[in-house]
This record gives sequence, C-alpha cells and structure tokens, in this order.
Amino acid sequence: MNHDQHQATYNSRRPLDRQIRAAAVYCSDGRFAAQVDDFLQDALGLTSCDRLAVPGGPAFLVGYSDIGREEEMLVGQLLFLVDAHQLAYVVLIAHEDCAFYTQRLGVPVEELESRQRADLQTAVDRLRGLRDGLRVDAFYARIRGDGVSFERWF
Ligand SMILES: [Zn+2]
Repeated sequence: MNHDQHQATYNSRRPLDRQIRAAAVYCSDGRFAAQVDDFLQDALGLTSCDRLAVPGGPAFLVGYSDIGREEEMLVGQLLFLVDAHQLAYVVLIAHEDCAFYTQRLGVPVEELESRQRADLQTAVDRLRGLRDGLRVDAFYARIRGDGVSFERWF
C-alpha cells in the first residue's frame, strides 16, 4: 500500500505512456480539474496528453494587449510541446464562471459567455495558422448542478 504519507517513494500504478499525440489547454481553475481529466480520457480517448493549465486557459491565444508578454511566453510553450512531441491535435477548453475573464480582464458576467465564444474562435484560428495541419478543437465546460458538461463549440 502506498497510502502512508511518511513513505518516501510512491510508485504509480499507471503505466508510462510513451506516445503523446495531443495537448490540452485549459484554465488552472481546480474546480474543473477532475472533470477535465475525465473528459480528456473518457470522451476524447486521450489517455495521456500534454497539458498547459494556466489562468484563462486558451485566452492567451487571443492577443490581449494587457497580458502581452505572458501571452507570448505561453504561445511559445505550447508551440514547443507541439513541435517537440510532434503533436497532431490540440484541445482548447474554456469554462463557465472564469475568474480570469471577470477579474483580470474585467469582463461583465453577462458578457462572459459571448466573449469566451468569440475568443475560442480566435484562438482556434490563430493556432491553426501557427502550425499547418494541426487539428484544433474547442470546448466549453458548463456547470450543470453539481456536475460539469462539455460542449463542442468549434
Ligand atoms: Zn478560469
């Protein structure tokens, strides 16, 4: 058993996946972490994938001037993964009630979803333009009662 907190080594029972084919870009918001894992694995069949989890998720692909330098860095990190691992597919996920939009960008709650929809389209187009042949899909994680549902937007 590996449940003893004092044990120095933990051996994961999950096998190493040596062939990564996709990357997922989503918000750091931990409320959605388990559901994002579930969606990537069970809905999209991505048992393993590279991950870029940052506040606002794919918002860094949009080109907001007030986060310009961070944005450039994050685009560079994503392209590094795409190139280094020869990825063919990138999944972008935005989510409902995203504090990056409401607090960092100051988007009013009533405009949030339409802004995210426009931004996801921009992000998809930009990423496809950066790497020929890259497949990019975008999804929206919506809160449903105590759960989360994922809608394919683009
Ligand atoms: Zn968020």
